[in-house]
Amino acid sequence: MCGRLRRLTVTLLIVLTLAGAAWAYDVVVTANGKKYHKPGCKTVKQVSKTLSIREAKRLGYTPCKICKP
Ligand SMILES: [Zn+2]
Repeated sequence: MCGRLRRLTVTLLIVLTLAGAAWAYDVVVTANGKKYHKPGCKTVKQVSKTLSIREAKRLGYTPCKICKP
């Protein structure tokens, strides 16, 4: 009974972690641009760096108006 409850808790934690990772997805930036994009945005010809959305904001990048990351 007790062991089963613990396993359920662990499973729940894993699911929550995965959901959180999906929400905080990575964005890409270009060498000269000041905007961040979703990976695969059509305006991005050459990716210079992949970083988290939080990191991109911290560095002063603004969201692309086309892919709306
Ligand atoms: Zn874009």
